[in-house]
Amino acid sequence: MTRKIALVTGATRGIGLETVRQLAQSGVHVLLAGRDAAKAAAAAAKLQQENLPVEAIALNVDDAGSIAAAAAAVERSHGRLDILVNNAGILLDDLARAPSAQSLDVWRKTFDTNLFAVVAVTQAFLPLLKKSEAARIVNVSSILGSLTLHSDPTSGIYGFKVPAYNASKSALNAWTVHLAYELRDTPIKVNAIHPGYVKTDMNGGEGELDISEGAKSSVELALIGTDGPTGSFTHLGQTLPW
Ligand code: NDP
Repeated sequence: MTRKIALVTGATRGIGLETVRQLAQSGVHVLLAGRDAAKAAAAAAKLQQENLPVEAIALNVDDAGSIAAAAAAVERSHGRLDILVNNAGILLDDLARAPSAQSLDVWRKTFDTNLFAVVAVTQAFLPLLKKSEAARIVNVSSILGSLTLHSDPTSGIYGFKVPAYNASKSALNAWTVHLAYELRDTPIKVNAIHPGYVKTDMNGGEGELDISEGAKSSVELALIGTDGPTGSFTHLGQTLPW
């Protein structure tokens, strides 16, 4: 049987790296994408030593030239893509500041990586995803992108001061819904997930879940069958409010 080909962005550490490991363990050939080529190569080499089918690819999601070069490389080496996990993300909000005092630079950088880069990467790889028999796109969003919860005084995230991150992930959710609608009559399924509150560098190592648990939602949606959802927003199979 031909192996599925997956690409995971921002996979040099954290949830992305673990998503690569778990997809490879399930028999998928995974392209471990990182903006620092040497770091991506080192991470891939480690997984190769565990006999996992992983290869490194340079991809800075903020750079149009890097995206085009990565898509061309995948076209040359594999001719198609079955799974795209848009995992790379940043959280720059200064939690000590009021939302109105957050710098415009933070807003711009956050939207560049968490939204515009996802749109650009998806657009570049869509022709290759369309060559797959059953492609899957997973957008790694966050519960902090839920406007329903952010505006609910009884929710645990009410008043949590991450306006740029919140808005970027809300916008990512909107992109997910629109792309899923566009592709509804094709074999391509597009879903957003919340990985959980995971112990990674983004949270200074704090969190409720270990990285192995944190990768599960991405892996689950990357491997869903033809009866699986599209246009959904979930965490470990549970539907989340937009
Ligand atoms: P980390 O900060 O641990 O890792 C972020 C990864 O993204 C790194 O590999 C980093 O690369 C990469 N990255 C950042 N910018 C770029 C770029 N321009 N191009 C390519 N790669 C880039 O984050 P997590 O693993 O915690 O987060 C992964 C995803 O999960 C993010 O989208 C995040 O928003 C989301 N998420 C995380 C939660 C958590 O609790 N941790 C909760 C909800 C959502 P490099 O090594 O080169 O810096």
